[in-house]
Amino acid sequence: MNKLACITLDTELDYGDPEKRVRLLETPEFLERYIAIINKHGAKVTMFTVTSLFESHGERFRQLAGHIPLEFSVHSHTHDPHHACSLDEVEASQKAFRDFTGESPLGCRAPIGRIDKAGLGYLLDHGFAYDASVYPSIRPGEFGYFNLHMPNIPFRVARSDGRSLIEFPFTSIEKVRIVFALSYAKLFGWGVYSLLVKLFGLPYIALLLSHPYDFYFAEIPDSAVKGLEHAALARNSKRAFDYFDNLLDTLKKQDYEFAFVSEAYRYALSLKLEDFAWETWK
Ligand SMILES: [Zn+2]
Repeated sequence: MNKLACITLDTELDYGDPEKRVRLLETPEFLERYIAIINKHGAKVTMFTVTSLFESHGERFRQLAGHIPLEFSVHSHTHDPHHACSLDEVEASQKAFRDFTGESPLGCRAPIGRIDKAGLGYLLDHGFAYDASVYPSIRPGEFGYFNLHMPNIPFRVARSDGRSLIEFPFTSIEKVRIVFALSYAKLFGWGVYSLLVKLFGLPYIALLLSHPYDFYFAEIPDSAVKGLEHAALARNSKRAFDYFDNLLDTLKKQDYEFAFVSEAYRYALSLKLEDFAWETWK
């Protein structure tokens, strides 16, 4: 079986930033470093994009696409966690995506994994071929979840009217179910995190989660994020690019081939996947 690794970048406004910027794209030092690491490893990036940013940042997206292999996918229209996958959000994101790219979006990732039965139904209604929103792990708090029963590999969600989509869960490190993400590598520190990846491994399709602000969180001035959450996100901030470099290097050493999520989707179509009925989705 092929081993595919997808580098995903959830492109939204920098978290807690009063200036509402996306510094990865706006600061040449950050952008150049990002591009250099992607190209050093021959990686490909699937950018789950908050589609309202196509209007404000479209030119910057096009510039980035001129420097690295880049495909766009949908990360809601406005990144509102209280309406993560509402009908309005699905329709607005699909329209903005078509206006910018000239094509229909193949897939979607809901803000902070806030997909539910109704949201999946809207995606099916609107012809989305994949979703990438389910965390097979645990998170406490208001937007938390407890999903250890969910698979760590792609599965199919099928509805009785014959429509279906493939769900790509957020990849977790096997057994310990810690999310495979730049933010978690920073939180645990490279020594511990790399050991966990080495000991427990990753599934045959691995999506690496990252956000622009993961690369420089501690450098965002006057952050609205405070206390423990700020401390957690700011850990190892100065090492973020090095960790990202290490993560890509680890994937290569474990014989993963870099692929867009659209390519992983086409590959998954050829596999025997576990089926979930949309009607009984919880
Ligand atoms: Zn997001």
